[in-house]
Amino acid sequence: MRLIDKLIIHCSYTPPSQDIGVETIRRWHTAPRFNDATGTYMFKGAKYSSTEALPAEARMLGNGNGWTDIGYHFVITRGARVEVGRSVVIPGAHTKGHNKHSIGICMVGGMDPDTRHPATNFTHLQQTALQALCKRLVLDYPITSIKGHKHYAPDRECPCFDVQLDHLLAFSGMGDGCER
Ligand SMILES: [Zn+2]
Repeated sequence: MRLIDKLIIHCSYTPPSQDIGVETIRRWHTAPRFNDATGTYMFKGAKYSSTEALPAEARMLGNGNGWTDIGYHFVITRGARVEVGRSVVIPGAHTKGHNKHSIGICMVGGMDPDTRHPATNFTHLQQTALQALCKRLVLDYPITSIKGHKHYAPDRECPCFDVQLDHLLAFSGMGDGCER
């Protein structure tokens, strides 16, 4: 089992009306990715030389990231359902340079439907579900930090809210500044 000592929170950057979950995000992350430079596709971690070479089911998926699986370990839907994504025993694909020892959690939402800019529009139930999930994971793994993606990638507005919320800390039993 890999060492897991970080929780990293993300958002799906979708408008509130779009109630997606693991199934949809998995499709986005595993759908073929076209490489302009080489003219090839990546699909589920394998390379294909042309559209025709792709498996039939891949051609219907549209463009995606070409990954082997969804990048996140957990997704919290608008209805606060905690869905399991990638198995926690396998490193995720969510935070460049920090996947090896972390668990990636995605909150569905985060985009203003009118401006299409980042917006903190998560439901109260989603916040509560995030707290409960963090609390559980802190008990299960030697977690030393809970931070948002933007802490590691300051140019990104992900997850568009400050993860170091007092109540999140209180729930997870961790001290100031999310570090211990
Ligand atoms: Zn993110």
